[in-house]
Amino acid sequence: MTRPIQTHLDIDALRHNLAVIHNQAPTSKLMAVVKANAYGHHVPAVFSALDAADALAVASLDEALQCRQLGWNKPVLLLEGVFEPQELEECAARQIGMVIHHQQQIDWLCLQPVRVPLFVKLNSGMNRLGFQPDAYHRAIATLRAHPQLSDITQISHFANADLHSGMEETVHWIDQHFSRHAYPVSLANSAAIFRHPTTHRDWIRPGIALYGASPFADVSAATLDLRPVMRVTSRIIAIQQLAAGEAVGYGNLWTAKQPTRVGIVACGYADGYPRHAPNGTPVLVENQRTHTLGRVSMDMLCVNLDFLPHATVGSPVTLWGDDLSVDEVARSAGTIGYELLCARAPRPSHILLDNSTS
Ligand SMILES: *Cc1c(COP(=O)(O)O)cnc(C)c1O
Repeated sequence: MTRPIQTHLDIDALRHNLAVIHNQAPTSKLMAVVKANAYGHHVPAVFSALDAADALAVASLDEALQCRQLGWNKPVLLLEGVFEPQELEECAARQIGMVIHHQQQIDWLCLQPVRVPLFVKLNSGMNRLGFQPDAYHRAIATLRAHPQLSDITQISHFANADLHSGMEETVHWIDQHFSRHAYPVSLANSAAIFRHPTTHRDWIRPGIALYGASPFADVSAATLDLRPVMRVTSRIIAIQQLAAGEAVGYGNLWTAKQPTRVGIVACGYADGYPRHAPNGTPVLVENQRTHTLGRVSMDMLCVNLDFLPHATVGSPVTLWGDDLSVDEVARSAGTIGYELLCARAPRPSHILLDNSTS
């Protein structure tokens, strides 16, 4: 038997969220962001619910090829572009589009012009990826000079789309540069889709909202009519009766002031539950609210069962899902829903043995 912790995925909720997002920006094409293994939801598991998207966006060629293998025939975009020129051939063969955000990528393309969608990125203050304005206009001019490199879209990414103010200036600044070219435009992540309709343009790029979590600290997913796709459940595997003065877990982080019934849950930081979740982080046992006690360990955490006299070994536990949002658990642990969701599934990546002799 495996441990009782499980991830349940509500594919209809993902379809619903996609429709809600589409209604927010009905005239834009929708590029579903499925990087980090669909924010921890496993791309193959949720793939069938992505039908209504017009394109997929990923972070690496491996992820793009996985989408193609699953049968995705519409556009796929590498959000960070290719990492080395050797990847260009595969992109051409499988029709994988790419973000162009630094000069080397342009040099590689000029040597090996591949006819794929190119999303040229303007740095609008995030200072992560993208060209400064002068270099941006030069990049467009260089690409335009090659007939094979003419499938161009203009892209930028906001650092602060979750805020109410300050976006007008950023959007105005971007428009000044993008309006010099006649190519389509893509700006909006989930936060911008819901909060800043002027950013919708030709392509929207929702990620977190698809999975039913909120991009905002001050508005819940339910308020946005988004439904959680992921539900993480486990069970009580032991019960301890603590006397006053006794502690639970590593480091004695919580000590009972009075006799307390404590449930031990098969879920820990190795399962993606945040170790820094403090005493009092909400948990559902038998669908009723209780909270964590003491430090989260690798495979286990502890919950207060004082108000749940019927709870016993085997009682069902929900770590997050329908009646307890991942955003609420994340807030309690000082992080965001994105991080907790992503931690539930590994990314496809490569493990190398540094000391391998063969
Ligand atoms: C991850 C990402 C998105 C999606 O962001 P959400 O906040 O999850 O909607 C959109 N655009 C780019 C460039 C991204 O890296």
